[in-house]
Amino acid sequence: MLTDNLNRKIDYLRISVTDRCNLRCRYCVPSAGIAKLPPQEILSYEEILKIARIATAKGISKIRITGGEPLIRRDLVFLIKELLRLPGIGDLGLTTNGVLLKEFALSLARAGLRRVNVSLDSLLPDRYRWITKRDYYSRVQEGLIEAERAGLSPIKLNVVALQGFNDDELLKFALLTKTKGYQVRFIEYMPFGDGYEPQFSSFSLAEAFSTINRYQKLYPVQGDGVAELYRFPDARGELGFISPISRCFCPSCRRIRLTADGKLRNCLFSDEEIDLKCALREGGSDAEIEQLLFKSVRKKPPGHMLQDRSISNYHRRMPLIGG
Ligand code: SAM
Repeated sequence: MLTDNLNRKIDYLRISVTDRCNLRCRYCVPSAGIAKLPPQEILSYEEILKIARIATAKGISKIRITGGEPLIRRDLVFLIKELLRLPGIGDLGLTTNGVLLKEFALSLARAGLRRVNVSLDSLLPDRYRWITKRDYYSRVQEGLIEAERAGLSPIKLNVVALQGFNDDELLKFALLTKTKGYQVRFIEYMPFGDGYEPQFSSFSLAEAFSTINRYQKLYPVQGDGVAELYRFPDARGELGFISPISRCFCPSCRRIRLTADGKLRNCLFSDEEIDLKCALREGGSDAEIEQLLFKSVRKKPPGHMLQDRSISNYHRRMPLIGG
């Protein structure tokens, strides 16, 4: 089974299916843009399924589909269906910006997807338009309604904590958990890539917790992921705080990542990659792919070094890694 040198059991694979996105979030995509991967560099579904089959046989039980924006890749529903047929798969998730959820929620649910994570950084249409550079706020809202209607549950709303942008929307997001069954999660903004956008910084999630808790007492909820979970006593949903930098969870990290161009990454913040695509396309056997998986896991770093702000090593931006 996949266990690293620190005895961390690696059971979670995040698969990016595309580097393309239909939004241009200012903190994610640099203003100069990002060169697109040539289509032939992107793993086919057959290649993704082969890697997933080998990985699930070696202890990966949880897979998350991400991107870029996964719903812009053609026939994603097919991939979801096929991944769910793998014997070892226990949990399959999808992270999306929700723009195309209205169109796809029902077919995703029919394919067997149970739940969905939707990224939404503001509840104000003008602000949403500013941060994403696209006018799709109402589409996301419609997508959320359709996801509920399709029975996708839980719906997790991911909100990147951006100082001076959405810190004044804390309560509004928190109060959503009273009317909706959403799990609303605030996520610390993380610095990425050479062109790290200095205009953005995270607000403190500890202070965010205090502000909300002062408004009304929050009660802790047991979770099984990286989010610290709470709820208002009269809420339908939950609130989560994810602090990869200030309350780093590297010692319990169980993840590896597959980029859209077939590179295996053992840490979001390490540029050390193993080229599975090349191995596959050179006719690598299952045993060879398996060995590469083990090699990557063995070399998983103990933790990121973001506290040192030694960010110059992280060349790939989020859309090219898979968030
Ligand atoms: N398009 C999908 C979506 O929007 O959820 C999946 C890919 S997107 C890169 C995944 C998540 O990464 C989004 O929630 C986005 O807000 C988050 N993200 C991007 N850059 C980030 C950064 N620098 N710090 C923290 N989160 C970031």
